[in-house]
Amino acid sequence: KVENLKKIYNFGEQNLNALNDVSFQVNKGEIVAIIGESGSGKSTLLHILGTLDSPTSGNILIDGKNPFDKNDKNVSSFRNLHIGFIFQHNNLLPEFNALENIIMPGLIAGFPEKKVRTKAEVLLESVGLSKRKNHFPSQLSGGEQQRVAIARALINDPVLILADEPSGNLDSKNAMIIHEVFKEINNKFGSTVLIVTHNTEFADALPRRIRLRDGMIISDDRNNS
Ligand code: ATP
Ligand code: MG
Repeated sequence: KVENLKKIYNFGEQNLNALNDVSFQVNKGEIVAIIGESGSGKSTLLHILGTLDSPTSGNILIDGKNPFDKNDKNVSSFRNLHIGFIFQHNNLLPEFNALENIIMPGLIAGFPEKKVRTKAEVLLESVGLSKRKNHFPSQLSGGEQQRVAIARALINDPVLILADEPSGNLDSKNAMIIHEVFKEINNKFGSTVLIVTHNTEFADALPRRIRLRDGMIISDDRNNS
């Protein structure tokens, strides 16, 4: 739940209003496209929802919890446990292979290695990369790297998956594969997914689209199917 979110960037003498009173709610298990022109505030919104940045004012609640609660000092552990983030440029760790990259957030969260490893294998399978588990990021194609990044984002069963133009760097065929993976994980694991995309075909095929302009929501439409 997002309530009256505002983000003002202080940029030299200027104040830049990147989000202006944004409110909306997404139910568990929804998959929603966040769309809008360049500079409209999509990444700013996702970064705040992912607790990578804090709002100037307003609140967010994730699964009923406010990650910025002053009493809860550990925002990064909240993030690691509850949120899966996928960026346009995947930030896989180059010195670890695919399986190790996926396992890492599970180990950081303190789950037993055996359990995390088994789960990572299942996730690799579900993104179609069982045969690539020992490959290092430099030995994977861009699309494969993104699929590893998606599997990694899922390792701790996050309540919320945030993806910022995850197919932005890929050709149309690989972009389509990535889009299908998001639909599948939403279907299979019931994950709540917010995905920023410039791909109108993909966005139009999703059940819901929130469009931003100049830091404000200008439309929120749903497919009737
Ligand atoms: P794109 O589609 O190009 O990725 P976006 O919708 O994700 O665009 P944001 O990155 O959220 O846009 O940026 C919203 C506005 O805030 C832009 O005008 C941008 O210049 C400004 N902005 C973003 N980050 C900062 C920052 N760290 N400091 C100052 N201004 C910023
Ligand atoms: Mg952006």
